[in-house]
Amino acid sequence: MDSRNVRTRFAPSPTGFMHIGGLRTALYAFLFAKKHGGKFILRIEDTDRARFVEGATEVIFDTLKTCGLLWDEGPDIGGNFAPYIQSERKEMYTKFALELVEKGAAYHDDGAIRQRVSKIGETSFTDEIYGKITVPNSEIEEQVLIKSDGMPTYNFANVVDDNLMQISHIIRGNEFLSSTPKYILLYEAFGWSPPVFVHVPPIMRDATHKLSKRDGDAYFSDFSDKGYLTKAVINYITLLGWSPKGESSESEFFTLDELVKLFDLDGISKSPAIFDDEKLRAMNGHYIRALSPVEFEEIARPFIGEFDIDYAVLSAALQPRVDILSEITPQVDFLGKVVDYEVELYNNKKMKTSPESALVALEELVIILRRIVDFKKDFIYEILKSEAEKRELKIGYYLYPLQVALTGKQSAPGGGLDICVMFGKDESLRRINAAIERLKKL
Ligand code: GLU
Repeated sequence: MDSRNVRTRFAPSPTGFMHIGGLRTALYAFLFAKKHGGKFILRIEDTDRARFVEGATEVIFDTLKTCGLLWDEGPDIGGNFAPYIQSERKEMYTKFALELVEKGAAYHDDGAIRQRVSKIGETSFTDEIYGKITVPNSEIEEQVLIKSDGMPTYNFANVVDDNLMQISHIIRGNEFLSSTPKYILLYEAFGWSPPVFVHVPPIMRDATHKLSKRDGDAYFSDFSDKGYLTKAVINYITLLGWSPKGESSESEFFTLDELVKLFDLDGISKSPAIFDDEKLRAMNGHYIRALSPVEFEEIARPFIGEFDIDYAVLSAALQPRVDILSEITPQVDFLGKVVDYEVELYNNKKMKTSPESALVALEELVIILRRIVDFKKDFIYEILKSEAEKRELKIGYYLYPLQVALTGKQSAPGGGLDICVMFGKDESLRRINAAIERLKKL
């Protein structure tokens, strides 16, 4: 194989959102092309107008771009084999179908054109993953090539386009494995040499169900909306059904560039891969931890909302505590106002606090905090520690009541002092005073 001529394609039908399985197919096609210095082509297969969904093409463009799977030829950027949208190539398919009619490999049937398949003999091809597959011709249906409305079927258009666009390797889902003999017969009838076929096993929800929207998250947007990082999703789904060899097999964290270097077809597994939410979540947590504080703050902010707080302080407390960004929202539900709580919450065995001790501690805190000008965490910590020591108590005597007063919660990102600094002096004092009023009513 002359590796400069590797040309792969991603050929989605614009029928909705980008399924994770489709994205993985695109990834494998992209990685394989780039690994061999070849071209990755994007082709939109929209001949089935009944399934066409408005806006779906844009979702495909956006998702691929977000994921860094940039195409070398495609509908928006053109290329030597334009157009790259099948509905814009409509006339051409009829010409090819008529060529088959002339050769005896197709026939007119009620306004449509149908493939003619001999009942005798058999058809074979070799798939890179599944090996040699042979089907008796008697089992191959005489499929429609051009519908009576003049539109080609997907089954015909993909063969014509893959040949015209000089695709060297077809990487796609294994649901197309059973149709491939029909395609092989078309290649033979035209006298074209077929490309290499690489059929990839599906991604499963469990042993018997494919990953589908019905059973939960299945689209790329489901994951990005929840605050999974694109890098983590890409990393995870590449490894769903493919694994690197040699030393690299010991690691599981790879950037897209590293994957380009490592990718090979041998690493693709024959058996279906089961989508493991916990694994993806852990991987996402790893990528979140690896972000710089500034990067994390930026992506965390939409999940926090707009408040008058020190975001850097809050983000620093959150970054070690979330695996998925959407986990932020319930942790920060006290930002707008204190979560409604019972004063019993001030009872804490470990901290040795009670509503009674909390009332005293909070009253002391008002006096201490009011005097502090430099409202910084380390500084306040030292002061509270020495005040607690004077009373022969641990600092928890202050910190736990402080946290409850500021949030109304038993646990909060970063604890009382972080939250105090995050709110700043005025808001902190306001909340502490409100808590004191509440405790005094007892
Ligand atoms: N248009 C087909 C689909 O979206 C593509 C199949 C192929 O890669 O040949 O499923």
